[in-house]
Amino acid sequence: MSHSLRMHTYFTDDPVEAAEFISNDKLAVFPTETVYGLGGNALSVAAVESIYEAKGRPSSNPLIVHVGAIADLSRVVKEITPSARAFMEAFFPGPITLVLPRHSSLPKVVSGGLDTVAVRMPSLPIALQLLRSVGLPVAAPSANISGRPSATTWQSAAEDLDGRVSCILRGPKAIVGLESTVVDCTGRSPILLRPGAISLDALSAVVPDTSTDAPDISRSPGLRHHHYAPSAHICIIPSPDEAIPGDQTGYIGLAPPHADDQFKQCVVAHHVEDYSHKLFEFFRDCDRSGVTTIYCQSLVETGLAYALMDRIRRAAKAAK
Ligand code: AMP
Ligand code: MG
Repeated sequence: MSHSLRMHTYFTDDPVEAAEFISNDKLAVFPTETVYGLGGNALSVAAVESIYEAKGRPSSNPLIVHVGAIADLSRVVKEITPSARAFMEAFFPGPITLVLPRHSSLPKVVSGGLDTVAVRMPSLPIALQLLRSVGLPVAAPSANISGRPSATTWQSAAEDLDGRVSCILRGPKAIVGLESTVVDCTGRSPILLRPGAISLDALSAVVPDTSTDAPDISRSPGLRHHHYAPSAHICIIPSPDEAIPGDQTGYIGLAPPHADDQFKQCVVAHHVEDYSHKLFEFFRDCDRSGVTTIYCQSLVETGLAYALMDRIRRAAKAAK
């Protein structure tokens, strides 16, 4: 094993220090606006293999390559298709990932053996500072042990990865809180593979023939894997009236429960952005405090609520 467990993990607030680890083919966790990422040099087979190992992620589940400048894509993608160019102009840097034909010099292992590759430029300033300081494409899946909820704080990333990575860059709580929108731009018309903060409407406003993937023939390999799951059983309910209060139950939603209903963990979010921002940390708080049943209020699935409900449904399916 190239990456024996319980290594020393260095904590820092300095993106340039974290960048040095990645430049030396070591792994560094870093903040982005979506969720925390677990980064390694995308051009190094050994570094990329150690990402899969640190996460316990099946190597058939491809990683997203992060860049700080479009020029860094030259050894990552074979071409930037017209739809990808349009999305880059509209949304880079931002919470969106584009799937493009893979460049032959990019190790296949980055994209789970596929001849395509997913690329993204995050907008969080400290993430861009790190990427620009590395100056290489950085492969980075979400910074969590495979199957667990994504980490939206450095403390949650450390809970899963302290002792498994060389460095953790401490930054702010992820603003969006859900993983990026993923769009396949390799074909004639773009296909939304994973919903996120950039909605189908926003994509269609830029490239009108953008459509959603049929779930039964999903082209997004990662979506076949279990994801986002706390240990608790998840119930999706339209109103808090259906939640059964108790010292082993949790509730998250926009509507407040009755004043005399007590939950071990309770989040009443102000709006859908706030609900998304808080979801994964709420799941982890439920795990930390021994909650066995989680009630999630369902929302009408427009805009960001479509991405939020997608994550909640996957977590409900995967939960033990
Ligand atoms: P994560 O980094 O944990 O957010 O997961 C990245 C996800 O992006 C994967 O699980 C896939 O769903 C998607 N993805 C990455 N690369 C590709 C690709 N080449 N083709 C289709 N989907 C991809
Ligand atoms: Mg993930």
